[in-house]
Amino acid sequence: MIRFDRVAVIGVGLIGGSFALALKQARLCGHVVGIGRSAANLALAKDMGIVDSVATQAGDADLILVATPVAQFASVLAAIAPRLKPGAIVTDAGSTKRDVVAAARAALGARISRFVPAHPIAGAEQSGAAAASAELFRGRRVVLAPLPENSPESLQAVEAAWAACGARVSRMSPEEHDAVFAAVSHLPHLLAYALVHEFAGRDNSAQLFGYAAGGFRDFTRIASSHPEMWRDICVANREPLLAELERYAGKLRALRALLERGDGAALEKLFAEARAARERWLSGEVE
Ligand code: NAD
Repeated sequence: MIRFDRVAVIGVGLIGGSFALALKQARLCGHVVGIGRSAANLALAKDMGIVDSVATQAGDADLILVATPVAQFASVLAAIAPRLKPGAIVTDAGSTKRDVVAAARAALGARISRFVPAHPIAGAEQSGAAAASAELFRGRRVVLAPLPENSPESLQAVEAAWAACGARVSRMSPEEHDAVFAAVSHLPHLLAYALVHEFAGRDNSAQLFGYAAGGFRDFTRIASSHPEMWRDICVANREPLLAELERYAGKLRALRALLERGDGAALEKLFAEARAARERWLSGEVE
């Protein structure tokens, strides 16, 4: 079984902290060092037993996880590149992959073979070490976006680490990854932020929020997500996201035309088809 003597987590938040806790629970790692930009968050991570020590460098880590917001990757990877221990493997948890791979290529140069891009499809709207849980990834998917330069051994090591966290690992190219997650994750976040922001700016916003109930809460839950993280994701993946926004706008225009005509039959047909698709998804018939 693969074991990492020393693991470095750069960005000990919800995702980085949960990864460290899960590896510890699986007894897959020895010492975990935490690197971050908030001293208070790192102190909390140490108190909670997420990390064993706090440092400013990854040092002699065998496995390094980068779990900062994605716009930080260029500087974070440039800082670790000159000091990478021979044989060390670097992976990440970033929600976008083309920009992360470009940043890694620029920073790591010939050492790019050691970088195995990954994205855990698990999370929450909470952030920081306080929200970390060893169970966050259990039964959830992790997408690896392997590079042609990756060795089978480094892919296996990263796959084993995520599998030890309880995740189901699959693979996609960075391009396919970014197109899929623009649709199923990035677009819904944009829509949720937009709806809350629209209502918040109205003269009668207090009245609107006063009467908003379960439907509004469900639709907008993800508008409680971390603004910096979502700023970075939207900017990094803006081309696929703009394409998805355009398709969604087209669907809204079609719905609008049905409403203008008062075409109840067509509206009901569309709603029924959408409900059936969602039920198939919830029942696990489609993955
Ligand atoms: P988080 O805010 O909980 O944690 C990020 C941590 O990174 C913070 O502790 C912050 O202080 C630290 N940080 C920021 N800049 C840094 C820098 N330059 N150097 C070192 N540390 C730095 O966020 P999170 O939810 O854990 O997300 C982390 C990454 O995982 C992001 O790239 C995000 O896109 C990705 N991700 C998030 C989710 C989710 O639902 N939250 C899911 C999958 C992937």
